[in-house]
Amino acid sequence: MALPKFDYIAAKSIDEACSALASNPDGGKLIAGGVSLLRVMKFRIMSPDVLVDVKSIPGLRYIACDHDVLRIGATATSSDVLKSPDVASECPLLSHAIARIATAAVRNWATVVGNICVGHTASDPSAALLALDAELVIASPSGERVLPIAEFFTGHMSTALEEAELVREIRVPRRKEPTGMSYLAHAGRAAMETPLIAVGVALTGSESKCTGASIALAGAAETPVRLSRAEQALVDCRLDERAIQNAASIAAEDCAPDSDVYASAEYRRRLVGVYVRDALRAAANRVGGAK
Ligand SMILES: Cc1cc2nc3c(=O)[nH]c(=O)nc-3n(C[C@H](O)[C@H](O)[C@H](O)COP(=O)(O)OP(=O)(O)OC[C@H]3O[C@@H](n4cnc5c(N)ncnc54)[C@H](O)[C@@H]3O)c2cc1C
Repeated sequence: MALPKFDYIAAKSIDEACSALASNPDGGKLIAGGVSLLRVMKFRIMSPDVLVDVKSIPGLRYIACDHDVLRIGATATSSDVLKSPDVASECPLLSHAIARIATAAVRNWATVVGNICVGHTASDPSAALLALDAELVIASPSGERVLPIAEFFTGHMSTALEEAELVREIRVPRRKEPTGMSYLAHAGRAAMETPLIAVGVALTGSESKCTGASIALAGAAETPVRLSRAEQALVDCRLDERAIQNAASIAAEDCAPDSDVYASAEYRRRLVGVYVRDALRAAANRVGGAK
């Protein structure tokens, strides 16, 4: 299927990209790997007049591990992130989430920032980054702002990005306390499909006393979400089977999945209970040991 006509700007700087978006408020769109965008353009779901390329901006393809934070640049691909030893050691749940995306050919093009900017509820990296308390550095013609990823997803396929803004960097805080992590996803077929539901979990403390819990879900609400009531139910508790089952039941109660052609809401809700339980068991086994 042919693409609709569009103008193309290979931006050479963040300022140039933001200015190009500002001067095309109705018809300008950023493009990174193009994996999602070109597809929706081919189906005429979207027909931007101007595509502004982020990949042509030098210096945005990096993964850097600083003292307090791991940083992922706007044009780092899913493969770059997957190959990073820093990501594997600091936030293995992000590596696991990205490893299940499609194929190497897709991952070599698809950026992680592009993935989250689609705003899809069933985004694997979004669930992982939510569980990791990531922040986004957002650039615009008037400067930069930092937004917790929990405030980024505003509705079905929509984000908090304003006109002429771009995500320059993802920041993941490095954990000082012992943390056990886990990422599990359920898809109709193993490959080439976004998950029906996915769960990212990070537990801090020890098996005898949980001091912090993050549970994030993809595919089980209008946007990727955190499950604060289930998280709270674990804090200060021993991470035993009773506490885990209780948190998993709360997760199943609190999620808000939709029915679609792939699965009913009720089936997704049951999956949430099972997958949250299993992800919590795995993370609890790792707390204080291997991540
Ligand atoms: C066959 C297939 C299977 C897939 N399976 C999965 C899966 O299992 N799990 C999963 O999570 N995903 C899956 N995906 C989705 C894929 O990971 C995303 O499409 C991809 O990561 C998008 O990245 P991109 O760089 O190609 O973004 P693009 O397609 O270039 O852009 C996507 C959106 O992000 C915006 N954008 C891009 N960069 C920026 C920026 N820096 N700042 C602001 N906005 C920006 C664009 O304007 C556009 O709206 C699959 C895709 C395919 C084709």
